[in-house]
Amino acid sequence: MRIKPLSSAVANQIAAGEVIENPASVVKELLENALDAKANSIAIEIGFGGLNQIKISDNGAGIIADDLPLAIAPHATSKLTQLADLSTLTSMGFRGEALASIASISRLTLSSKPAAQDHAMMLQIDGAAVELSPCARSQGTTVDVRDLFYNAPVRRRFLKTERSEYIAIEHIVKRFALSAPMIAMTLRHNGKQVFELPAATDEYSLRLRIKKLLGKEFIDHAIALDVERAGMRLNGWISDPVYHRSQNDKQWIYLNQRMVKDKLIHHALKQAYEGRLYPGRHFACLLYLSIPTAEVDVNVHPTKHEVRFQEPRLVHDFIGSQIAEALLHSSPPEEQNDRVIAGDSETTQHSEHESPGCYLPHPIRSHNDEISATRAETMASSMIVRENYIPRPQFAALSTSIPTIPWFILNNQFGLLTWNGQPYLLDIPRAQHQHYLFIIEQQARPLLSRPLLVPIHIDHSIDDGHYLQQLLAPFGLHLEFKSSRISIRTIPICMPQLNVKLLLQQVMATRPEETELPAIFAACQLSDATQLSADEKNALGDFIVQQLQVTPQRYCLRLDVEQCRNLMNV
Ligand code: ADP
Ligand code: MG
Repeated sequence: MRIKPLSSAVANQIAAGEVIENPASVVKELLENALDAKANSIAIEIGFGGLNQIKISDNGAGIIADDLPLAIAPHATSKLTQLADLSTLTSMGFRGEALASIASISRLTLSSKPAAQDHAMMLQIDGAAVELSPCARSQGTTVDVRDLFYNAPVRRRFLKTERSEYIAIEHIVKRFALSAPMIAMTLRHNGKQVFELPAATDEYSLRLRIKKLLGKEFIDHAIALDVERAGMRLNGWISDPVYHRSQNDKQWIYLNQRMVKDKLIHHALKQAYEGRLYPGRHFACLLYLSIPTAEVDVNVHPTKHEVRFQEPRLVHDFIGSQIAEALLHSSPPEEQNDRVIAGDSETTQHSEHESPGCYLPHPIRSHNDEISATRAETMASSMIVRENYIPRPQFAALSTSIPTIPWFILNNQFGLLTWNGQPYLLDIPRAQHQHYLFIIEQQARPLLSRPLLVPIHIDHSIDDGHYLQQLLAPFGLHLEFKSSRISIRTIPICMPQLNVKLLLQQVMATRPEETELPAIFAACQLSDATQLSADEKNALGDFIVQQLQVTPQRYCLRLDVEQCRNLMNV
């Protein structure tokens, strides 16, 4: 048999197997392209588990008409021109392989309109037939992939059922939605909407997105962390040891916005949880690691799950020590005191004698292995970080004298409560206002704060930044000023739903005295009762009852027969 070069069509189909394993990998590639195109809104439509159709539309930069044929040519990319660019790469794609591969194994339509182009153009590819024609659409790109693997029957045979392929797609979409919270997303399957995620522009909406995607339990048991060291940053949430799972299916780790399944990172995390979970149980996490692009090589595999670090040991130590530190501070207070001392780099080696972890009778980790200078340094730095780190709010602590009573939230305005055998109708926002006021006034200054995962930026020129800083620091708000921008880096723990922008506007407009601030803080809460966690709901219920015992409240209406008659008009 003579040797012949493969036609580019066949070569592409074979290469496609590397990048496109199943419908979910098509979705992943297309979502990454939309992200690279700086879209802030993406709509995903899936037909029959992706086997019939995968249609992804974005409002990003678009592709100019002349470049449309190039977009589906192999090894054609706008993201990389020379090998050296790899070290400074910030885009998701760079191989120029995805669209070419997808086009070779499906019927693909690519329509796009860049802002500067008058009208949109559409490229239709069906086997060797390629057709370019004008079409109507607003700015952005739509990639419509139909009949995936129609010309690759062997690959099609390896596909799973519609349901399994769809589940894999949903997983990819969730994973992407968590990596790019600023992008609004919708997902539809077989014409039905599966979820709609508005852009998460602040801490509150970010938590809502996470709650939608990972569940309420995850967010209720999440310990927030945000730490920086030697150009690396680790932020996100890890589960406290009370919440553990039978599978490692809720471990979401992103490196420079890319989802990774990296052995080194997993090892560091596992080690930090050692002794805190029963054997065979798994923690949950949503973590974002940022490392200068020159220090990490993402070019290991086309699906890019694995990475190679320039200094793996430094990365491992940084992650391990920061996670251990965060877990340490999630322990009950009496345990914390012991542990804080043990976290010191000088005393670390004696930590085997510490009190046990939450569940298992042995230490969090044995430190007598390979403690390097780097480790000691990292541990020492974490002591500085610890001062900024505070676990999630402990609402229940406010009401220890009365047992928690059940009450009902009818909607974000009304609630029902029975106390002393009497039913009460509640005006929840007013009750919440009083509750916040009580919390703020009762707590010592400075209020405990926690770092924001996404700092809030407000564009506002300010000439008395120092005054604002001084005024708000006792309330747990850490502000920074750069030219005409205010950055808010921490918020008070006891006010997780603070509308910081509104607060700053009010403070700048009224220049209040410190004594007037609690009322302003209480008024600037984004209170949606339907979103309260169980702890928050209990604490609010207990507060209301506590107040009822002292004096009738304006926000509680006792439902006696007379009131009921009035309400029902009878
Ligand atoms: P890569 O992303 O590795 O560059 P792809 O085959 O995924 O390769 O895409 C090829 C090129 O097509 C990209 O470099 C980009 O210029 C363009 N492109 C693909 N999808 C989009 C999109 N949604 N919006 C704008 N440009 C896109
Ligand atoms: Mg790409």
